[in-house]
Amino acid sequence: MKEGLHGWCGQILKVDLSDGRTVKLDTMSYADRFLGGRGIATRIYWEEVLPEIRAFDPENRLIFMTGPLVATGTQAAARCMVVGKSPMLMPEGFCYGNTGSFFGAYLKRAGYDGLVIHGRSNKPVFLLINDGDIQIHDASSLWGKGVYAVGDILKNEYGKSVRFITTGVAGENLCRSANLMTENDGSVTGGFGAVFGSKKLKAIAVMGSGGPSVANPEKLRELNKKVYHLYKSPSEDKPASGETTPSANIKHCYQCGIDCEFRTVMRTASGKDMIGMCQPMFVYHEWILDRKDEPEAAAYDATRICNDFSICTMEMCNIIEWLEACFESGYLTQKETGLDIEELGKLSFFEKLADMIAHRKGFGDILAEGLLRAGEKLGEKAKDHFSEFVSGVGEGAEYSGRAYLMNALLYAFEPRQSMSMLHEVSLLVGEWVMNLNDPESSPVTADVFRAAASKFWGHEKAWDLMTPEGKACAAAKTFDRTIAKDCLGLCDEVWPIMHSWNTPDHAGDPTMESRVFSAATGIDMDEAGLNKYGERIFNLQRAILLREGLQPEKDDFPAEFNFEDPVEEIYLNPDVIVPGPGKEVISRKGKILDRKTYDRMRKEFYKIRGWDPESGLQKDDTLCE
Ligand code: SF4
Repeated sequence: MKEGLHGWCGQILKVDLSDGRTVKLDTMSYADRFLGGRGIATRIYWEEVLPEIRAFDPENRLIFMTGPLVATGTQAAARCMVVGKSPMLMPEGFCYGNTGSFFGAYLKRAGYDGLVIHGRSNKPVFLLINDGDIQIHDASSLWGKGVYAVGDILKNEYGKSVRFITTGVAGENLCRSANLMTENDGSVTGGFGAVFGSKKLKAIAVMGSGGPSVANPEKLRELNKKVYHLYKSPSEDKPASGETTPSANIKHCYQCGIDCEFRTVMRTASGKDMIGMCQPMFVYHEWILDRKDEPEAAAYDATRICNDFSICTMEMCNIIEWLEACFESGYLTQKETGLDIEELGKLSFFEKLADMIAHRKGFGDILAEGLLRAGEKLGEKAKDHFSEFVSGVGEGAEYSGRAYLMNALLYAFEPRQSMSMLHEVSLLVGEWVMNLNDPESSPVTADVFRAAASKFWGHEKAWDLMTPEGKACAAAKTFDRTIAKDCLGLCDEVWPIMHSWNTPDHAGDPTMESRVFSAATGIDMDEAGLNKYGERIFNLQRAILLREGLQPEKDDFPAEFNFEDPVEEIYLNPDVIVPGPGKEVISRKGKILDRKTYDRMRKEFYKIRGWDPESGLQKDDTLCE
């Protein structure tokens, strides 16, 4: 750790797998303008991954970057960003993912803010980072093994305190949607597991006994208590201690004491443990439920199978939906696929399909290229059976812009579906829906919703989800805050704190992130200052996307179905209701996104960003800021 430096460790490790050379970069030469996490990783991508580099080229980088709040004791701050050229996108392009658990925190405990990997080994290897020291080891005993086995082997060899990130057989075989996986079922999407495979890198194991220093530990403890207090629901009788207080059945991320529903240990039908996350739990759930001859807990086995192979659960869901539609129409049969559709909903069907994809067996070889590329290979008839949700990375319509106008911009201007951004409006509306149904279940009344919308989205009309007014401003604020959060290493489950059971007006606090940052690093910062970093990094990302071929007049739009297919339901909001101008409740069910309305929002968004209002191109002064 560098003396006098708080929050950051001060160095980033670069490893060239082609020749084993390592170099250390000075974090602070980047942090001044790009903070950490997604910001520094995006900057390094800009400098080192030129447009002509392909995802599986040795020159592609995998950039792991933590933030200045990771491993400082800040609550819900264990995220590690991963940036690189994604083989999952079509065409391949800039993408990011992130994971919690322990890996990022232990990278910092080992003395590094981040890790940049490039080159390609000529045989399978894994990296071992141990308190600053780095070794490249032969991984032939790990190659061909699943994620859970790799974890067991590493822990047997190096002890329980070793932390890791790895990929399963799908990554080794360059399945384009292969994830990176950490212990406790943490995953990074974007196809970066396949980039590991292309580099013949099986795993990175980290051990560390240090950690960054904190500028003002007392203040940070006090703020941690406030985070607990604001986050806590009445059902949690836990004292607001500000210390890590792990529950027995929750596998927390490093140093986190939040009562987190996304880390609950679940028991599969086959008697194994796994951690209950959000979307991954539902990869096969609806098909299992449709059958009476499988227990519901077999759905958790399906998730575990994906995790072990490192298959992306979002992609897998789309594949199954597509196969079902193809079989129903007679376009595909058992003859071409080797699959018996009568078995759909049985765990054995899922096991077989996952195995075919991960090992690229038979029809699985086509599916391993990802559904979008399978469509290109098989032709228009195959594409006719895609659900409207099929997109590059993510399902693409979970909280679509047909229901919540500002989300149309959030989909259009990100290279992948960004759940943490979409959550800002969608979870707040979901809480309001809960309050309508049962006031004991959520504090978000229509008044709380309005106050939060004005405070967090910066426009007095942002709360009115029926009008485009204020939505470009709300989207810009959401981009900036979420990217700043991704730079610091903060977790989506807790941050931003938009409402609370425990304040007199049930308001949350948008200043918490900047205050925690100041306590940890000793650097004065306010909410606007932090969001300015978010805006700068959003602009840098835009420059990368333009450099890689983005065409604003064609690409600055959400998927076409938004303009054509009426919305029928939304997660957490089956009747698609939104708060009306008075106390009334208005439904957007059956609505589409109006093209003229969207176009107005798009142009307004360009203007707010300081881009050319017609072309959407950035101006010199925007890029130099
Ligand atoms: S709130 Fe949950 S997901 Fe977030 S850091 Fe804590 S344990 Fe991890």
